[in-house]
Amino acid sequence: MKISDILQHTKRSVSFEFFPPKTPEGEDSLFRTIKDLEFIKPTFVSVTYGAGGSTRERTIRIVKKIHTETKLTVMAHQTCIGHTKNEIVDILKEYRNIGVQNVLALRGDIPEGQKESFVFPPDGCRYANELVSLIRENFGDWFSIGVAAYPEGHPESPDLDTDIFYFKKKVDAGAEFAITQMFFDNRYFYNFVEKVQKVGIDIPIIPGIMPVTNFKQIKKFADMCGATIPKELIEKIQPVADRPEEVEKIGIEYAVKQCEDLLKHGVKGLHFYTLNKSKATIQIYNQIKDLI
Ligand code: FAD
Repeated sequence: MKISDILQHTKRSVSFEFFPPKTPEGEDSLFRTIKDLEFIKPTFVSVTYGAGGSTRERTIRIVKKIHTETKLTVMAHQTCIGHTKNEIVDILKEYRNIGVQNVLALRGDIPEGQKESFVFPPDGCRYANELVSLIRENFGDWFSIGVAAYPEGHPESPDLDTDIFYFKKKVDAGAEFAITQMFFDNRYFYNFVEKVQKVGIDIPIIPGIMPVTNFKQIKKFADMCGATIPKELIEKIQPVADRPEEVEKIGIEYAVKQCEDLLKHGVKGLHFYTLNKSKATIQIYNQIKDLI
């Protein structure tokens, strides 16, 4: 099923993001997580892609396995950086051939240390809007296409308005919904939605929720993607930073409050960054399910 069609007929979407594990044990553990989460009947689940093609085989295999062995609607993330257009079309043909109809079209991060010197291949896509166009040119309406959105602006962008200008290019090229980068202060999300509506963007924008279960790890992710961790959350976590269970408890409580507020503001859905684990997501879901 196409996610764009499901979103039209669903009051609220709940979805989960997974990454393709490196080992058979990791893969078994992921499929246990998927089984644990199935009772929630997610609108869709998605599988990330290693920019530059590092997870090409693994992402394709996991997407195919979810599509063929579960009842879940699956979306493949596809980055364009480091790939030629032909390579991308070949990957997407594999998905079309087995009936997968959803793709999250991304550029991918420029490799570490190459921000200034990176040369985009002439036969590739420089930005995600070009990838969206490539998919539409080659596959017409077969795929429902999602894109990334950044409530605090993308780290390479000089300011939020410039980033929104380029976000609109992705929508104009044919993106039908967006999932946001993680954020911990909902005010960034509300401000972003207000701004994008003013420039005529009316696709569903689904907030990405990252429950804090390991402070060091989340701090690293947040630094990389430019997400602000509110002082209030840092002050709660820092005194217990060496006690993982307490960190997780605080992280879950925080995410529940964040989701409740988003749901009260009428968001179209919630996309959970699960890091391939089910515990935190289930605990959050159980506390907010009446609002969904
Ligand atoms: P773009 O939309 O191309 O934007 C990149 C930057 O360039 C922005 O600063 C933008 O303002 C600017 N820009 C855009 N178009 C133009 C243009 N035409 N001219 C000049 N400037 C322009 N990464 C992975 O490697 N694998 C994943 O699976 C993955 N999944 C993600 C899922 C979500 C929900 C999100 C939010 C991010 C994900 N990422 C993933 C991270 C993403 O690849 C990085 O944030 C990357 O740096 C930007 O990708 P993008 O698609 O947003 O790029």
